[in-house]
Amino acid sequence: TEELLRKSEMHSAVGQLAAGIAHEIRNPLTSLKGFLQLIQAEGEKNEAYIKIMLSEFTRIETIINELLLLSKPHVLNFKSEDALVILHDVLTLFESQALLNQVTMHRSLTTVLPEIYCVDNQIKQVLINLLKNAIEAMPSGGNIYVSATQHSDSAVLISIEDEGVGIPEEKIQRLGEPFFTTKETGTGLGMMVSNKIIENHNGSITVTSKVDVGTKVEILLPVANR
Ligand code: ADP
Ligand code: MG
Repeated sequence: TEELLRKSEMHSAVGQLAAGIAHEIRNPLTSLKGFLQLIQAEGEKNEAYIKIMLSEFTRIETIINELLLLSKPHVLNFKSEDALVILHDVLTLFESQALLNQVTMHRSLTTVLPEIYCVDNQIKQVLINLLKNAIEAMPSGGNIYVSATQHSDSAVLISIEDEGVGIPEEKIQRLGEPFFTTKETGTGLGMMVSNKIIENHNGSITVTSKVDVGTKVEILLPVANR
């Protein structure tokens, strides 16, 4: 019965996800179709319509890309990787975006860290999702503290801390629920994808937050066997 229960839970979770995806994709598609019909009927004002259509296409693209990260879990290429290199690459990627948002990134990276066993692109994706959330949580700028340390013989700890709006307690539980977002143009998929990836890595992800003070996300990842 326990097995059966788990299976039916899974089915309903997957069904819920599918319904959510269908809904999320239908909205931008309806809008795109409408603007195409307007363009067909008029011929003027096209520029404004095309602008909206492009942003709707981008939204569909974002949703599909985030969801694709969850598929194909079997062909993933797990390797021993240097967490410092992964972090360095991602932080470099964010330098200009941080600057544009008046955000300063502080790194406190232990110089010698054991390698972690991971799919580097997936861990990068998680860090990208988390840094994006951190920046978005600070609309008028602030600091982000990123650290990587050895947590134990078997785990590396990566921590990302912001000084943003924070997350009220009742919403912390909803993090990672598909399509849970408080942002106007959010997809509510970033945390779900991140949780799934860390789970696939046999790691853990913990979020602690205080409203108007900030949010800290801690990720534990297993050290590679030597
Ligand atoms: P999205 O960013 O598209 O909204 P996510 O899954 O990345 O989707 O995040 C879900 C929600 O969790 C966000 O809308 C926001 O309310 C909250 N959240 C996540 N990270 C943070 C953070 N660092 N600070 C404040 N709120 C956050
Ligand atoms: Mg996000």
